[in-house]
Amino acid sequence: MKRVQKLKSNVNELAIFGTESLFGSPKSTSNLVAPDFDVFLNYSRVFFEHQQYTNNGALVRLLEQRLASFHQTEFCVTFCSGFWGLVLAMSALAIKGRSEVIMPSLTYRRMADIASWAKLKPHFCEVEESSLAQSAATVSRCINANTALIVAVHPFVNCCEVAELVALAQEHNIPLLFDSVESPYEFVADGKVGGFGDAECFSLHASKLLNGFEGGYLTTNNAELAKQLILVRGFGFEGKDNVKVAGGLNAKMNEVHAAMALGCLDDLEDQVLRNRQRYYTYKDQLAAIPGIRLVEFLADTPTSYKNILVEFLDVWPLTRADTLAILNAEKIYARAYYSPPLHRKRVGYPCVPVDLPLTDALAERYALLPCGHQVSEDDVRDIVGLLDFIRNNAAQIANRLRAGGKE
Ligand SMILES: *Cc1c(COP(=O)(O)O)cnc(C)c1O
Repeated sequence: MKRVQKLKSNVNELAIFGTESLFGSPKSTSNLVAPDFDVFLNYSRVFFEHQQYTNNGALVRLLEQRLASFHQTEFCVTFCSGFWGLVLAMSALAIKGRSEVIMPSLTYRRMADIASWAKLKPHFCEVEESSLAQSAATVSRCINANTALIVAVHPFVNCCEVAELVALAQEHNIPLLFDSVESPYEFVADGKVGGFGDAECFSLHASKLLNGFEGGYLTTNNAELAKQLILVRGFGFEGKDNVKVAGGLNAKMNEVHAAMALGCLDDLEDQVLRNRQRYYTYKDQLAAIPGIRLVEFLADTPTSYKNILVEFLDVWPLTRADTLAILNAEKIYARAYYSPPLHRKRVGYPCVPVDLPLTDALAERYALLPCGHQVSEDDVRDIVGLLDFIRNNAAQIANRLRAGGKE
């Protein structure tokens, strides 16, 4: 925290009041991990030599093989993005003639758009306070004769209770899709994430654990589903211009994205060690700051330690919005966790009306702090040092903010 003390000796030196920011380059919540450049080039040589750049080339096939074995599933199907993987999986799995998809509201910001592309109406469910995830209990309250599909999304830290969700879906004969974008490295009590429910979806966006620039993939043990999705992602064609399935489009992954993702996969174990280092530095430093609680990873199963999620407790002396505005001005791009929740957003398509008081309350309390490849352990000390400075000078900061920056 030494640098913060040097740079910010009084409240006037906060960037929100017009002075220089603590960081020259942004510290964000995006992972932005990159493989060794030569590793990336070595993979890339393959598509240069084969002169095949897309359409199920050698690198895409290798990536699919390696991801299937990583997740211990029979099949892996890649896509151009996590978004389109989810849309196509939801469309394929939803029970025909039914209109609703059950999903949490405290979740990924674009989840309702994804449902809309899949022509399904979101029926948002509540989450559990302890896990910030939906449970069999919160999902079962939303099941009705119109339920076409359950989408279970793992939260940013730790996982949903997978076994009880699988049992619930089986009991009601409703397909179950996991959005496991935040949990590719994780294990749950019953095994490796990737093989649960009817399928699981992942992202290879640069901000996620594995960086393929853009990209996504699905894992499943259902051969029919894998076959259908391979057709749909490539225009619905089988062979030459022979349309086999309706609703086809171009959602294929290309070779250069696969090269990047393969490089990141090679580096994954090392990355997790680096993430773990960063996480424990946050944990040590935050322990000295009353009013902020780090959401801890369960240490009994493998976890990626990527995301840094904190709760502002009642004794924290500023609002979350003010705290984030102060951090953002210092180029610390901390952000509110899943806020506003999806049921509070105005969207141009129908959703089942719901009342979710716990989600409303939780959406006000949490924030993600910077993580990933661009954040060093010294950066972590500075970020927490600034939080400490904010706490120690909260009354004066609040006054000055209310005065509109003038004193
Ligand atoms: C990022 C994200 C997605 C979408 O993935 P893209 O590859 O960016 O389209 C879906 N679900 C969750 C939970 C995410 O965080």
